[in-house]
Amino acid sequence: MALIVHKYGGTSMGSTERIRNVAKRVAKWARAGHQMVVVPSAMSGETNRLLALAKELAPARPDDAYSRELDALAATGEQASSALLAIALQAEGMPAVSYAGWQVTIKTNNAYTKARIESIDDERVRADLDAGKVVIITGFQGVDDGGNVTTLGRGGSDTSAVAIAAALKAHECLIYTDVDGVYTTDPRVVPEARRLHTVSFEEMLEMASLGSKVLQIRSVEFAGKYRVPLRVLSSFTDWDIDINEEASSGTLISFEEDEHMEKAIISGIAFSRDEAKISVLGVPDTPGIAYQILGTVADANIEVDVIIQNISRDGKTDFSFTVNRNDYAKAVDLLKARVLPALGAQEVTGDARICKVSIVGIGMRSHVGIASKMFRVLSEEGINIQMISTSEIKTSVVIDEKYMELAVRALHKAFDLDQPAD
Ligand code: ADP
Ligand code: ASP
Ligand code: MG
Repeated sequence: MALIVHKYGGTSMGSTERIRNVAKRVAKWARAGHQMVVVPSAMSGETNRLLALAKELAPARPDDAYSRELDALAATGEQASSALLAIALQAEGMPAVSYAGWQVTIKTNNAYTKARIESIDDERVRADLDAGKVVIITGFQGVDDGGNVTTLGRGGSDTSAVAIAAALKAHECLIYTDVDGVYTTDPRVVPEARRLHTVSFEEMLEMASLGSKVLQIRSVEFAGKYRVPLRVLSSFTDWDIDINEEASSGTLISFEEDEHMEKAIISGIAFSRDEAKISVLGVPDTPGIAYQILGTVADANIEVDVIIQNISRDGKTDFSFTVNRNDYAKAVDLLKARVLPALGAQEVTGDARICKVSIVGIGMRSHVGIASKMFRVLSEEGINIQMISTSEIKTSVVIDEKYMELAVRALHKAFDLDQPAD
């Protein structure tokens, strides 16, 4: 008998029929003798629907008063789906109880809309499990020290599930979703994408941070920190498939680079439209420039990603970087108001129609020429590279967003990702 955590995404919880299927699947696992904790997302579209209602009443504002209510509102989506799942399980003859984050308690900091989990009290959950109940805990949310409901950022139910699995020292955390595992790239963009049987934790971390939304980045970080065995698999198989077959399906996020690991140099391609590029032109090339520009942006809680500073000419240089697209307007306004006059720079320009495409693979460590192959493939497609950033196991380029799908498809083919690895 093992303690297992299941997480079901929005599409998997998308209708009463799908919820009934989830209930049957969970009941099957419980009847096989496992202690079951289930973390559901809101029914698909519900979080967007709720947030759109708020914006109808008042345009988005960054202040805490507004963000607090957004969290109180969005958290109801998961409360509804959790209660519905408990009702469906009870109808299957399986004792079940649902809890919101604040009832568990899942404590977070007070950063509304992007809160971080600080602690999870497992007492109540363990008592219910010992009494033979399936315990359902809302994904995506917690409560801060002041008793305010918080949410963990879009896609945050993954993080709830992994954090709960870590707190309960679960045997495994299974992330059920609408695809049957982690693919070489998003199978909705490249139909030839191939499912990976295993992916290393480090590669998964890069893919998630570079835009593969199949797992929220924080969930992968938690899994790494607490060594939570993690698997991504489909909720769309027949609920009564053999449990052992189900338990070994999908993609395992592996902590060991062993001989079972696929041997490809590149494991996957990630992409993101979430960024925007900002350039400060004609800044004097003197010490402290980067700090003045990026420090001002950081002080406004805006994260910076790819950074480029050009060689100076006549004592002046250009400085470019990317920020999240949601922060773009705010960052440009800030730089125009504060940095431009203070530095005597010429101009602040920007482009929100860019995207970042990245190739990821631990094999890059031991192979040279991978980045240059990427640049060759893009040049053959006539795609101009605006920025480049590299690490040991990834190379990212910033390009015009209209070429995103073309770039991803061309790279997927050029690196043979549609061919099974030997
Ligand atoms: P859920 O609602 O279950 O959390 P998400 O929509 O958040 O599901 O994540 C699953 C989606 O992630 C898939 O439908 C797929 O389009 C997308 N995705 C992006 N990159 C990948 C990848 N490398 N492998 C699999 N799915 C991916
Ligand atoms: N319901 C939330 C969202 O749509 C959390 C999640 O699905 O993981 O972002
Ligand atoms: Mg998700």
